[in-house]
Amino acid sequence: MPEKLESQFTHSELISLRRRLNHWFRKHGRQLPWRETRDPYLIWISEIMLQQTTVKAVVPYFERFINRFPTAHELAAASEEEVLQYWEGLGYYSRGRNIRKTAILIRDQYDGVFPKSLIELQKLPGIGRYTAGAIRSFAFDLPAPIVEANTLRLYCRLLNFEGDPRSRDGENLLWTLAEELQPKSKAGQVNQALMELGSQVCTPVEPKCETCSISMYCHAFECGTQNEIPLKKVRPKVTQVVEATVAVHHQGEYLVRQRQPEERWAGMWDFVRFPIKSVTFKDKITKARQSQLQSEIQNVLTEEYHLSIESLQVVTEIKHSVTRYRIRLLCCEAELNSKMNSVEIENTQWLTLAELENLPMPITGRQFSQELART
Ligand code: SF4
Repeated sequence: MPEKLESQFTHSELISLRRRLNHWFRKHGRQLPWRETRDPYLIWISEIMLQQTTVKAVVPYFERFINRFPTAHELAAASEEEVLQYWEGLGYYSRGRNIRKTAILIRDQYDGVFPKSLIELQKLPGIGRYTAGAIRSFAFDLPAPIVEANTLRLYCRLLNFEGDPRSRDGENLLWTLAEELQPKSKAGQVNQALMELGSQVCTPVEPKCETCSISMYCHAFECGTQNEIPLKKVRPKVTQVVEATVAVHHQGEYLVRQRQPEERWAGMWDFVRFPIKSVTFKDKITKARQSQLQSEIQNVLTEEYHLSIESLQVVTEIKHSVTRYRIRLLCCEAELNSKMNSVEIENTQWLTLAELENLPMPITGRQFSQELART
């Protein structure tokens, strides 16, 4: 166990901080669908959706999702494919798969009742220390420290912590402050207030210190270091890659395959997709390049899918990022060789564009199928 540190706040300062936070939150806290409830299921869904995604983007997804799956029972009874379909567009699809697994455990091992204990909560797939604290404090109003992106920044500034907040000592110090800030009762509101103030006032760039209701306790503000704190994450170097996604067409239907467990976007359906060597990130698609591309794509289709194509055209391009990769995705449409029948290939099916609308697809696959529908 790492040694427990102490933050710099006295008992009476912590009481005053909590009071000020609660007062500010009652006046300025945003009304959000998941703040109107104490249902741990709804709070949990919102917290998982909010990971890596903004509040504004989450609201419509959240409403649509809970309309279809209003309780853990409905979610546990749904297929993974359907859950992924409702998760489509939110990204980080392992979250969608994990919530279904957790809903099944809640139904089968917890009699449909969410546990209150941090230890029990953290045994559930996809629930880490922060999410467990959010469920326990927001749903049950029980003390539970929380540190996520907004509170991490806020705590670093309150403490004027110049070290790395992601180091062992940094984490230990921030979680200690988070624990010290917990009241014996109404922990939910204090935690909501901390997150909200972190998000709305103690912003990453140009924090609004002049109007901040806890500035008198902020050591970074006192030292004028709020713009340098917290220490920035070292971003990994971005690698550029080129991939092709090929919509193989045959008599009004397209070949799509389900992505396998070891692949990114596992469980979702997509046109066949693979890395390309004959085109670089900056190359123009000239006639000569198009012909090299077609021959490279034909080779992959023959080797991996035993398919032969007649013609190929680049319909559109999509640039997007996945972790440290910047991807130039060449979206190609190819006509199956007329001498071939629509062969059966493992994990694939031939579907019309209208039928594709009912399957979960990664964002790029969906954009491409919509583009095909327009052309
Ligand atoms: Fe953040 Fe400024 Fe408030 Fe300190 S005074 S908590 S830096 S907004």
